[in-house]
Amino acid sequence: MPVVMKFGGTSVADAAAFENVARIVAAQRDRSPVVVVSAMSRVTDSLLAATTENDVDKAIASLEPTFHRHHAVAKELLSESQAEQFVKQISSAADRIAELLGAIAQNPSQRKVLQDEVVSFGETLSSTLLAEVLSQRGIQARQVDARRCVITDEEHTAAAPLMGETFARSQNELHPLLQADVVPVLGGFIGATTRGVTTTLGRGGSDYTAALIGAALGTNEIQIWTDVTGVLTADPRVVPEAQTIERLSYSEAAELAYFGAKVLHPKTIQPAIEKHIPVRICNSRSPAEQGTLVGPQTETSARTVKAIAHKTGVTTVQITSARMLGAYGFLRALFEVFERHRTVIDVVTTSEVSVSLSLDDDSALPAIVKELEQLGTVRVEKGRAIICVVGEGLRGMPGIAARVFSTISDINVTLISQGASSINFTFAIEEERVNEAVTRLHHALFEPHKGTRSTK
Ligand code: ADP
Ligand code: ASP
Ligand code: MG
Repeated sequence: MPVVMKFGGTSVADAAAFENVARIVAAQRDRSPVVVVSAMSRVTDSLLAATTENDVDKAIASLEPTFHRHHAVAKELLSESQAEQFVKQISSAADRIAELLGAIAQNPSQRKVLQDEVVSFGETLSSTLLAEVLSQRGIQARQVDARRCVITDEEHTAAAPLMGETFARSQNELHPLLQADVVPVLGGFIGATTRGVTTTLGRGGSDYTAALIGAALGTNEIQIWTDVTGVLTADPRVVPEAQTIERLSYSEAAELAYFGAKVLHPKTIQPAIEKHIPVRICNSRSPAEQGTLVGPQTETSARTVKAIAHKTGVTTVQITSARMLGAYGFLRALFEVFERHRTVIDVVTTSEVSVSLSLDDDSALPAIVKELEQLGTVRVEKGRAIICVVGEGLRGMPGIAARVFSTISDINVTLISQGASSINFTFAIEEERVNEAVTRLHHALFEPHKGTRSTK
């Protein structure tokens, strides 16, 4: 049975990183690897930025360093003829991107559709390059256009895969290669509609591609290779003392990913659950370290809390109306407003006369508020953050709320929710204090010997 190995952007940041990936793949050569790779680090950001630049020449010029980085890797790691071939591919990508940027400028209503094709070049180039680097290192490999495997709906920039079609196409494309002992290399994040138009799965979506391919092929493991050693007890950029969690249940990993642990795309776990495939998160800079194993087993840890996730840039909305009291249909009318504006709600809490909820994407907020005002008084707060404490041990464990709140008693907490699954405890605070709050909670919940040190 094959194994999927997904490498994120930082794992293919430069020539040394590409070489390192080749070594990691070579070490598992006998496990029939299928490789999924992200665009080189920061490339998706640069391509996206180019699509928002009004002056097309300026936009193309802004991409020069990006093309140059690909070129530099090819020059360093490939044979002269391989590199020459790849340079041709870079220049035809540049031509097509120029065409697309021109089309976006003329056709703003088509922006999302065209933008998806622009950003797809990040993954197309990195996967082509990686397949060549592997071949150069004596590993028979072939780039496979992920758009032939991952078939999606037409929701550009956040497309949802059509599972039946995706599984069938992935099997058709990949089985023959695996049978011929060739390592398929796919770009993550990108797909195509049934009509062949390029789509993307949302930022960070390469993890999801890996899980989809893993589920399609029934692999015995999905490996996510990144720049940290697995899922940590908190975001290491905020809490440098955060530690690797050895094992997580699927539900714990899904909650953490959903509430901001960027190490996994929120949709990654679902395909793995359905096919009972373990997901391993490993560090490409330190491959010998164990990392985190995510699987069906729930481990009851001595500590009830496994990790703290957080996300910023959240908006909360509170709708208050006496009409809610004893009236049916009110909540439906309220949620329909968000549905009409295709806006996803994250956390919801209700009291007798009010509903509070949080949103990541507030682009349709003005229109939403206007409609909500027909239902009641609306209060919007921007610049909020969500903190989520996760652990199977939280199920039925009293006292966690008290512990959390006493640790950050000087910070105003809203939107408190103990998830339906009871393995998470979630709340909102003001964004400016989120790093401080997460640090203090980490000290209190994971480093009790240090006490609740304040970072103020
Ligand atoms: P990749 O490019 O490999 O997909 P990402 O940047 O998407 O990598 O995800 C890895 C990053 O996620 C880490 O560098 C880390 O800063 C961040 N992160 C946030 N929360 C966590 C967490 N709980 N555990 C591990 N990493 C986390
Ligand atoms: N390259 C894409 C992004 O930066 C997808 C990914 O890295 O997973 O969002
Ligand atoms: Mg990622």
